[in-house]
Amino acid sequence: KAVSELTTAQAQQEIAKLQDDLTRYGVEYYEDDNPSVEDHVYDAFYARLVDLEAAFPQFMTPESPTQRVGGTNVKSELTKITHPVPMLSLGDVFSLEELQDWDARTTKALGFQSDYNLELKIDGLAVALDYENGELVQASTRGNGTIGEDVTANVKTIQAIPQRLSEPLTIEVRGEIYMPKKSFAKLNQQRELEGLAPFANPRNAAAGSLRQLDAKVTKKRELSAFVYYTADFETLGAETQSGALQRFAALGLPTNTTNQVISVMSYISSYITHYTQQRDTLDYGIDGVVVKVNALDLQLDLGNTVKIPRWAIAYKFPPEEALTTVRDIEWTV
Ligand code: NAD
Repeated sequence: KAVSELTTAQAQQEIAKLQDDLTRYGVEYYEDDNPSVEDHVYDAFYARLVDLEAAFPQFMTPESPTQRVGGTNVKSELTKITHPVPMLSLGDVFSLEELQDWDARTTKALGFQSDYNLELKIDGLAVALDYENGELVQASTRGNGTIGEDVTANVKTIQAIPQRLSEPLTIEVRGEIYMPKKSFAKLNQQRELEGLAPFANPRNAAAGSLRQLDAKVTKKRELSAFVYYTADFETLGAETQSGALQRFAALGLPTNTTNQVISVMSYISSYITHYTQQRDTLDYGIDGVVVKVNALDLQLDLGNTVKIPRWAIAYKFPPEEALTTVRDIEWTV
């Protein structure tokens, strides 16, 4: 039923049910690494809840999944770590039209058209890496954005992540830990041989493999990583998101080099089309494209909400079976 046709009582009931259901799915996904519904199903419920809460804001609570990052990980036995700068989620859109609306809002807020850095949205889990004088001293998961889990010993087993940077910087960088598709296939084969339940997808396998009490288990899982963010771009010595990626690479950090800076929003459709088609040929899972305001001082100007940055947006790919529909979409400005 359309949101505008609902009575207040019906809206209240539907909102409460969606908040409960999405909270439960969140526990399965973020805490148990074992989701019972597919991401696009979760995304559809989430989008409906966003619309309902916008129309009936009296039923939106700070505990609503729309207002919180990730899970609470209360059951996790890993040591908890507080993030000095919160680790946020990303706003998402599912069509080029919605992306165009986001661009219009961003352009209006800035007063001019910004350059954007386009990146692939890696389907893994976010991690913060703390380097002190160039040495890796701590690694933590995003958790609920404010409190994450200490996975230092586990991250130290990941070959792609350097123990030491090429410069003695004291800096926190962030990125995505993922499981290469080949390693995922191998792991699930092995699990089936051992009579264990296979992981639902590489993202859950990566999360389950990283959030282990025994780092020896993580080591066997062949995880990898891409770094794409720091809140401390002065220490990094970068003025743009694309420049930050180059600096990360120069420091020896793993970066994804498929990014592209665009100055005209209409160029985005060819990037999206290209990676929608190339998706299967990559050795890592991607679930969309992230569009980021390229100038880091403009990112600061735009700031964040409690849950998402205003300077970035994720365009999510349609579920695999619906791919042909997006390939034919023309970008119209
Ligand atoms: P998200 O994963 O959709 O987007 C935010 C995250 O993207 C960031 O935290 C970061 O880790 C990651 N990311 C990957 N590449 C990036 C890049 N290049 N730049 C910046 N960030 C990048 O958001 P979320 O809050 O982690 O999770 C919500 C999503 O998780 C939902 O849309 C849904 O698809 C899925 N989910 C599924 C279930 C389920 O039951 N199936 C439950 C909860 C969440």
